[in-house]
Amino acid sequence: MQINTGSFKCINCSKTVSLQAWGTKNRNHCPFCLYSAHVDVRIGDRKSACRGPMAPIGKIYKPDGEEVLVHQCQKCQEIRKNRVAGDDSMGLIEKLNVLEFF
Ligand SMILES: [Zn+2]
Ligand SMILES: [Zn+2]
Repeated sequence: MQINTGSFKCINCSKTVSLQAWGTKNRNHCPFCLYSAHVDVRIGDRKSACRGPMAPIGKIYKPDGEEVLVHQCQKCQEIRKNRVAGDDSMGLIEKLNVLEFF
């Protein structure tokens, strides 16, 4: 995945995704299919050597009611939590299972 100034190409659906989104300063997943890529060791550092596709495996609700996406890397199985962005596909988010284990 190429990281450049304003956009990246989705690892899963190949759509071009703008890094600008409402509700988040650090968009790291595709609003069309919700996939992400394992590029960070710590959020935003882009230092991971993995580069595996991260599939949306479910969602959790924070105590304040905010929805949080849960991604799992398809290469190394690492799990990440990500804020939902304002223009993410709500239909897809709705279909995700609510996870209880966090
Ligand atoms: Zn995508
Ligand atoms: Zn990984």
